[in-house]
Amino acid sequence: MKPLRLDSKLPQVGTTIFTVMSQMAAEHGAINLSQGFPDYDGPAALKEAVKRHLDGGFNQYPPMAGVLPLREAVAAKVLDCYGARVSPETEVTITPGATEAIYCAITAIVRPGDEVILFDPAYDSYEPAVTLAQGKPVRLPLAPPAYRIDWQRVADSLTPRTRMIVVNSPHNPTGTVMSAEDLATLAELAERHDLIVVSDEVYEHLVFDGRRHESVLRYPALAARSFAVSSFGKTYHVTGWKTGYCVAPAALTTELRRVHQFVTFVGITPIQLGLAEFMRAHPEHLRELPAFYQAKRDVFNAAMAASRFRFVPSAGTYFQLADYGAISDLPDREFAAWLTREVGVAAIPVSVFYETPPDARYVRFCFCKNDDTLRAAAAKLAAL
Ligand code: PMP
Ligand code: GLN
Repeated sequence: MKPLRLDSKLPQVGTTIFTVMSQMAAEHGAINLSQGFPDYDGPAALKEAVKRHLDGGFNQYPPMAGVLPLREAVAAKVLDCYGARVSPETEVTITPGATEAIYCAITAIVRPGDEVILFDPAYDSYEPAVTLAQGKPVRLPLAPPAYRIDWQRVADSLTPRTRMIVVNSPHNPTGTVMSAEDLATLAELAERHDLIVVSDEVYEHLVFDGRRHESVLRYPALAARSFAVSSFGKTYHVTGWKTGYCVAPAALTTELRRVHQFVTFVGITPIQLGLAEFMRAHPEHLRELPAFYQAKRDVFNAAMAASRFRFVPSAGTYFQLADYGAISDLPDREFAAWLTREVGVAAIPVSVFYETPPDARYVRFCFCKNDDTLRAAAAKLAAL
């Protein structure tokens, strides 16, 4: 038999850490604070709305850009939250998860040799998309413990080939949020160097202690060159529904849809219709979300106060980063495996989100769990 010629286009990429750690948690019966998903269900009224549409015969392809009522609900929300007036027809696209929107945005814009600025630790889906587009990821570190963007370093890293910058606030895995000054600097650099911005805002409603989410959509000059991406999965506790959206100016949306229509074409009709109905009927859900998750952060952190983990309370997302340097010298992957196996709590090692990990000892715990789950996990962790 003739051997198959096969050169991987992503030779460095293994199975995502989220799958690896969730599997390990299941094998060892550990409390799973690794992969980010709630252990509670989405709102009953949302599930009922989806069921009603499913039973009502809304089971064929939706329009390629998503069902209009959901695009209208997104436009209304974006106006309400960020004062941005966007067209549901030409500027909002519903996608199967934020992941697909990010992939399509990168694929639509990046050409071979284009440089794309990413910040480490970076969510793991960005770099493969850049690589498949034959772009060049330029990974700049966010230094612990503050994990702020060093804008001077960004400015120094820009070249005539820099085409795109990917930002993520609230930030996974560090739980930091960008400030208005960060966005002003981003706007200034992006405009001066004619960059396109992908702004991953999937945790936009999970911002704590009275902070305000700084969406690119608040700032017209930035919005004019940005893909703003979000996820209904995070906002409505339904990560498995894999439904997200992208808001971008018409010209960018056209390019995004050129790719989207051949990657997945569409998401799932009754889910989109159910989300639209729920968003219209329950605007209070968004208002209540920050307090809901802040309370979970506080339950977890209060129980962790007795531990030897050191942490700065998360400012946003449903993740809490924790320094385990006082407990162990193990590298973080080994520590996370040990923690899962021997202690019964699964976490995400943070080094996997870097090109060059710093000499630091951090794991990420996910606190979108029932309070009893959080307390049970923290009790195990506090015993170390
Ligand atoms: N970006 C970030 C920062 C995330 O944490 C996630 C959640 N997994 C995603 C994108 C993807 O969201 P979705 O599940 O809607 O594709
Ligand atoms: N975004 C989730 C996390 O960071 C998981 C996403 C995934 O499993 N692909 O934990």
